[in-house]
Amino acid sequence: MRLLVIGSGGREHALVWKLAQSPHGTQMWCAPGNAGIAEERLAKNQSPVECVAIGAEDLPKLLAFAQQKQADLTVVGPDNPLALGIVDLFQKHRLRIWGPNQKAAQFESSKVFSQKFMEKHGIPTAKGRTFSDPSTAKKFAAKLGGKCAVKADGLALGKGVLICSTDAEANRAIDEILVSKAFGAAGAKIVIQEFLEGVEISLHALCDGKVAKIFPTSQDHKRALDGDQGLNTGGMGAYSPAPFLNDQQIAQVGQQILDPWLAGCGAEGIDFRGLLYPGVMLTKDGPKVLEFNARFGDPEAQVYLTRLESDLVELLEASVNGALDRHELKWSATAAVCVVIASAGYPGSYEKGAAISGLNEAARLPEVKVFHAGTARQDGGVVTNGGRVLGVTALGSDLWKARAAAYEAVEKIKFDGAHYRRDIGVKALR
Ligand code: AMP
Repeated sequence: MRLLVIGSGGREHALVWKLAQSPHGTQMWCAPGNAGIAEERLAKNQSPVECVAIGAEDLPKLLAFAQQKQADLTVVGPDNPLALGIVDLFQKHRLRIWGPNQKAAQFESSKVFSQKFMEKHGIPTAKGRTFSDPSTAKKFAAKLGGKCAVKADGLALGKGVLICSTDAEANRAIDEILVSKAFGAAGAKIVIQEFLEGVEISLHALCDGKVAKIFPTSQDHKRALDGDQGLNTGGMGAYSPAPFLNDQQIAQVGQQILDPWLAGCGAEGIDFRGLLYPGVMLTKDGPKVLEFNARFGDPEAQVYLTRLESDLVELLEASVNGALDRHELKWSATAAVCVVIASAGYPGSYEKGAAISGLNEAARLPEVKVFHAGTARQDGGVVTNGGRVLGVTALGSDLWKARAAAYEAVEKIKFDGAHYRRDIGVKALR
């Protein structure tokens, strides 16, 4: 099979790496890819994965490329092309593509849509309401005592959620989004949710329109600094499994969330074939969905795909074909830890082009895979090319061992201004 993967981050490197192990793959491209993706080879015939300089949001060029190369399956990593309708476009031209169509991708591209869907179909979530008028929004926030999450409706590079603990903070957040238009059109409407306390986990489920197969648990680390301090980021590390739920509890949570979700999709004519990733707060009143994403988490993909034993090409094919009921997802009994190494300044502004050393030494360690996120090739070496630069991922027979292996590899890698959290997975060990 000829495979095309869309995206350029750590998640896409993990997808490419796992797809390349499948005996079904004969040729693979990644648009636009990164320096690490360009080093991967297909297990079947050792053919190199080719990176092509087409942006993940350039739908007409991606379509033309897939047609020219006669790609048998296109796999979409990031949220933006899904929200722009890449799946509908490819399907219109009879190309096979994995990911939710534009209507189904609304679970991520519109928080207003998600909040209304959850309320209508009895999915446990935070109490919330939708607003476009600042003064009514402020009255609602005041009723919550200012303790709330103010969320821009649309995609805002993961920055559209403002957590508030006082009336003044809530008023400022509402003005920032609705009046100052900090997120442009993505903030024409907002959702305000009550603030929920508890342990936050990431759930993932592979869906085929009728069936949702839930993954083991994982936990992301959103804040930039140790101890969950500093600014929110795209994710500074993840591990799996997260020990807050046993297998029976995961199945229960899955039922509480996914059963009404699937029934709701059926009732509303939403055909979701792709990856559903609910962010869930385990509160004292039970699990509650904070938000839905319509693609793999990044860095959750890195820990899941290193633990996944099943053939990913077959699973994604089954997801597209509506045949997941005939497949089992097999996971290794190991734990996985991914530590993200970021550029100085991230998640604020940062420079690119710093030379990275130690990649080969790190890669030689057993049970370690260094996924590239923001990297490029320059003058025969690898340089930084983004905020999140690398996702150093390791497996171990338990979380301690996986952590130790990941950090041993992290310490071998150097570039100017590199920073990473030293406490990935620590919450689980407590
Ligand atoms: P979201 O993109 O909606 O998941 O929000 C980003 C982050 O904000 C989440 O990962 C949570 O840590 C936090 N968050 C979102 N909604 C709430 C809420 N209702 N209560 C507490 N924290 C929240």
